[in-house]
Amino acid sequence: MVKNLLIKNKSKYKQQIENNEHIKEHSDDFVIECRNLNLWYDEFQALKNINMKYRKNKVTAIIGPSGCGKSTLLRCFNRMNDVIEDCRIEGEVLFNGRNLYDNSADIRLNRKKIGMIFQKPNPFPMSIYDNITYGPKIHKIIEDDILEKISEKCLKRAVLWDEVVDRLDDSAMGLSGGQQQRLCIARALAVEPEVLLMDEPTASLDPIATQKIEDLILQLKEEWTVIIVTHNMQQAARISDNTAFMYLGEMIEYGETTQIFENPQEKLTENYITGRFG
Ligand code: ADP
Repeated sequence: MVKNLLIKNKSKYKQQIENNEHIKEHSDDFVIECRNLNLWYDEFQALKNINMKYRKNKVTAIIGPSGCGKSTLLRCFNRMNDVIEDCRIEGEVLFNGRNLYDNSADIRLNRKKIGMIFQKPNPFPMSIYDNITYGPKIHKIIEDDILEKISEKCLKRAVLWDEVVDRLDDSAMGLSGGQQQRLCIARALAVEPEVLLMDEPTASLDPIATQKIEDLILQLKEEWTVIIVTHNMQQAARISDNTAFMYLGEMIEYGETTQIFENPQEKLTENYITGRFG
């Protein structure tokens, strides 16, 4: 049985590789994988030989002291560092087996599939409805009834629908910070991503709004893969399945969240999570 499965999987990979030379051998359990990833800002090396795999339908938290490279790593996953002058990247970031940094990679499609939520909510200065339908319209969905369905579905998925159903045409700028952040998550969902990257998504929110976002993240993983940068260790412990600890551009330890917090294997990890530095 296992042997058959292995043969089946092997031939599946072989077929994938034959169908498309850009697809590398990878496991279907992992959606994103870094291989020997190095990044420099001019002369300064911010990421040092990162090798990591991110599991599908899991929440992975990236923790570590300020300046250790968490946001830089997250930005590699949707090529946001490309716009930074003097930023140089070596190595690979595979998304479903394809290197995002290949010359043949479709950056626009990848950004659709790998959405990003920022520290400060950034709704567009337009109505709530237009925020959600902005992405689908760019991707050529123009039928009003379909756009309405997308809007309702995504606002419900982001647990915002009940709070805004009577004011979809009002400006998104009138929402509270927490509502704006859930709107940004709904907007990201509207283009049918596979992965949601979150860079300290609750750092600017009060505790109640933070809890709503954390509850939402736990629901999101049923359908999506979430990679979250957080400086808040309690948050990582509450919501993530896996945790990666970074220090000075290196991935020091990566494993199941309970193991990292209860039984860290590296002294540096232990020192960090017990508050000896950071
Ligand atoms: P973290 O998210 O862990 O706080 P960052 O990824 O923001 O860390 O930064 C990692 C290192 O890279 C820091 O030393 C930071 O100063 C540097 N850095 C980040 N962005 C840039 C940039 N655009 N230009 C030059 N250096 C940068």
